[in-house]
Amino acid sequence: MRSDFKYYKKIVVKIGSSSITHKETGGADLIRLEKLVRELTDLHNAGHDVILVSSGAISVGLKAANIKDIYYDGSGRKEEGPDEKLKIKQAAAAIGQARLMMVYQKLFAEYNQLTAQVLMTKRTVLDDLNRFNARNTFDELMKLGVIPVVNENDTIATWEIEFGDNDTLSAIVAAITDADLLILLSDIDGLYTNDPHIDAHASFISEIEHLNADVERFAKKTTGSRVGTGGMATKIHAARIASAAGTDMVIANAKDLGNIHRIVDGAEIGTYIHAEKKNDFFVQDYLKED
Ligand code: GLU
Repeated sequence: MRSDFKYYKKIVVKIGSSSITHKETGGADLIRLEKLVRELTDLHNAGHDVILVSSGAISVGLKAANIKDIYYDGSGRKEEGPDEKLKIKQAAAAIGQARLMMVYQKLFAEYNQLTAQVLMTKRTVLDDLNRFNARNTFDELMKLGVIPVVNENDTIATWEIEFGDNDTLSAIVAAITDADLLILLSDIDGLYTNDPHIDAHASFISEIEHLNADVERFAKKTTGSRVGTGGMATKIHAARIASAAGTDMVIANAKDLGNIHRIVDGAEIGTYIHAEKKNDFFVQDYLKED
């Protein structure tokens, strides 16, 4: 029940690039980042263990290095093939991740809140030793009262080893750390019966007790973001992982970041997907097919 969320110990919050960067330039949106950090530190002050999964590295890096958009057709880099794009993306991520962490460090420091950076690839999860190490690191960080900021290691991840989207990554992090709640913040209020941008009759789903075939049908690929990668389908994939791992999940709108504390307080915000823990759950099984 939502009213139990306030008693949950470990909470993972995922925020996408479009929610913490300026649409016009891709640069970091400091006002929203500041609000996010305040919300998370407050959750920590209230006694929760908090982990942030934050996108934004590529977006911030492209802006910082003044690289023109590499995702739009007709951009100034038309002549470049996929490999060239990958290199640019990886370089942008290297620049942007450092810059993003600098901002997070500064903002968390204002509240005397320790933070840390954890970068992962699919290999971190598939390799038994890497996964074991990652789990231990998270455990230790929680003991030290740190709010870790997690992202995919976009600088070295190519398609073979990438999660591809931070929705999946956040569910993996929730699973590895045995989190109680995953709050997945998006540019949409939650799950609808159809894409509300194209269907005026689409109705909102506030609660899902069982992830069945109906839910799969509702999950249309609806992302319009140029640097984020998750649509509703990736959110449902994330929900499958979280649910099987025993983590409750809420998909909610990042527009009002106050939604974070309201959700934890039990408010009826977003789509609440109940955990249905599978006894034979192995997180690595959810990545093999890609
Ligand atoms: N990891 C990417 C970044 O930091 C974003 C991936 C996503 O939005 O899902 O830019």
